[in-house]
Formats: sequence, structure tokens, C-alpha cells
Amino acid sequence: MNKAEVESIVDQVMDSIPPEIDEALTDVSVFVVDGRDDPELREAIRHADMERAAVSRDFRGLYLGITARALDPGDEVPQLPEGSIVINCQTVATPEDVRDTLAHEMGHALGLTEEEVENLGLG
Ligand SMILES: [Zn+2]
Repeated sequence: MNKAEVESIVDQVMDSIPPEIDEALTDVSVFVVDGRDDPELREAIRHADMERAAVSRDFRGLYLGITARALDPGDEVPQLPEGSIVINCQTVATPEDVRDTLAHEMGHALGLTEEEVENLGLG
């Protein structure tokens, strides 16, 4: 799929997620990139305040940033810190792939581990 097609599906999903999830993800931005060398990926890494991120050639989606779970339980944090979800338009083939990838990375943004995300059927 091309970048514009993927971005339009991302917009549709973001417009339809439940308000509680939307609120929890206020500071999480979604970036659609065209491969690993897309400048938007560097922007996403900068947005998430990460020094560098090792990104495999054929990644579908990434979550860059601190998750709720990484914080100490005693910390009073009203919202998640800023993070970035990145979707690679080169490796998503269908609108369903885009939705699945976005849901998977949202799970990570909310603090779920790889195993927990898979247990929700979002592997
Ligand atoms: Zn994952």
C-alpha cells in the first residue's frame, strides 16, 4: 500500500477508537513511513526522545517510547509520556494489516508485553 492509503486507514481507526483508549494515547503520535530510511522514522525516534532505534528492514509496526508499565507503580503520572507508533507502508498489504498492526502497537503503548498482545489475538 502507499503512504497516503495507509494514512487514511490510520485516520479512520483513530477516529473510531473508544474514548478511554484515545485519552490514554493522547501523547502517542502515529507515523506512517515508507521503509526504514524514511525521514519520518527519524522524526518518530526524535519525538519519542530516543537516541537511536534499531529497526529491522522488514518491520511492520513499532512502538517507540516508555510504556505505562515501565514507570514505578508509585509514580504519579496522569498520562503516558510521549511515544510514537510507526507503521511501515511497504510491509502492510491490506487495510486489515494496517488495523491489526495499529492495534498491536497500541497494546504496547498501553504497556502490554509481546505475549499479552498476542493473547489478545493481536499478534
Ligand atoms: Zn509487538
